[in-house]
Amino acid sequence: MTEQHGGVSFGVDEETRLILDSIDEFVEQEVEPRESELGETFDNPRLRNDPDGEVAPEVIDAVDEIRRASAEAGFYAMNMPEEHGGQDVSNVTWYRAKRHVAEKGRGLSEFMLAGPEGPKPLLLQAEGEQVERYLEPCIRGEKTTAFALTEPSVGSDAPGMKTTADRDGDGWVINGQKQWITNAPHCDFAQVFARTTPEDDAGRYGGITCFLVESDEFELGSRNNAVGLEGLQAEIVLDDVHVPDSRVLGTADAAFYNAMSFLSLGRLELGATAVGMTRHLLELCKEYAGEREAFGRPIGRYQSISNMVAEGRARNYAADSAGLHLAWQMDDGGGTTEESSIFKWYATDTFWNVADDAVQVHGASGLSEDNPFMEHLHLARILRIVEGTDEIQLNTVAKQNGLL
Ligand SMILES: Cc1cc2nc3c(=O)[nH]c(=O)nc-3n(C[C@H](O)[C@H](O)[C@H](O)COP(=O)(O)OP(=O)(O)OC[C@H]3O[C@@H](n4cnc5c(N)ncnc54)[C@H](O)[C@@H]3O)c2cc1C
Repeated sequence: MTEQHGGVSFGVDEETRLILDSIDEFVEQEVEPRESELGETFDNPRLRNDPDGEVAPEVIDAVDEIRRASAEAGFYAMNMPEEHGGQDVSNVTWYRAKRHVAEKGRGLSEFMLAGPEGPKPLLLQAEGEQVERYLEPCIRGEKTTAFALTEPSVGSDAPGMKTTADRDGDGWVINGQKQWITNAPHCDFAQVFARTTPEDDAGRYGGITCFLVESDEFELGSRNNAVGLEGLQAEIVLDDVHVPDSRVLGTADAAFYNAMSFLSLGRLELGATAVGMTRHLLELCKEYAGEREAFGRPIGRYQSISNMVAEGRARNYAADSAGLHLAWQMDDGGGTTEESSIFKWYATDTFWNVADDAVQVHGASGLSEDNPFMEHLHLARILRIVEGTDEIQLNTVAKQNGLL
């Protein structure tokens, strides 16, 4: 079959089909009942957080339960190696699973597949006791982590970080501040990036080391509340934090190069979420445009409305094709710097455009907090900033084409 098509197949193999069907069952049996139990507490963004901005404890408990149950069922970190408790599924299957879950729209199901709180390839550099203490509990969904790179004075320009770690006997002492760190308020440990050799000596991307720092070893600063994700991001304050040498993740001074070599996966995952949620919104738009009448006919029969759906479909199809192609390239072991930037930029830009149109198609009800459209619009806006902003993605593409 594949030979007839020049070696390319977009068919869904039996194993992936089974995984997608089992995800549907899991959502029905495990996720939806918990969403119903939480009811308004989960549906209403204002009730999801208490007056201090903390995520309501019952929501945190539900998220923990979903993550653990999903790990137990073999979904949560199925892209991680089997020897550490994962399933070793391909990037294509992982992409399809992420997209499939996102097609259900915003909800507790967002927590069933590992996100920023879960294990990433960087953590696979764990050695010795790090494997049992951090990596494997993370794959089992028993512990969660945080990826602490961004600082008050640097975001896109991460190598310019001010956080330092200095030698202290046979350990290190870390000083600095991180901000906008996802899961900082709830993680068991953070992967903290710090400069260990000055830029003048190690070069711009060298001299940076990643440390595994336990949550009781750092102070939590202010919450960084992004509209739509309140209570999930916060500052991490590192004030003379002493850690032993055994907390260095991977090779000292080489963490930034390592992190960069795994950028494509983060972009694939985030793009898959954007593609899935875009599909979800388009389905809602199609249904509403067929039902809602104005001036004696369904609004979907006005070209300005039908074009929103048609253009959204076209863009979503193109984004999904780019996502599948990227996942296949990653499995094939080729370079994906340009393709992952193109995909992340295009998939999130499409999500943003469709989310905005979805509000428009639904008129005033698109703005209502009883409907899911503004929540998707907020998330779409956030996805254009995290894991490299639009501008940084386009800079990467320009660089890959000999410009900049
Ligand atoms: C919800 C959320 C979750 C996050 N989670 C994490 C996390 O878990 N861990 C973590 O480390 N960080 C996290 N971040 C931080 C995120 O990675 C940064 O916000 C992002 O990298 C952009 O950095 P910045 O906000 O400092 O913007 P800046 O880098 O200051 O950029 C500001 C503007 O200038 C543009 N710009 C910057 N440089 C260039 C250039 N060279 N060319 C053209 N335009 C440029 C940017 O595109 C942007 O439009 C999170 C942020 C949010 C909002």
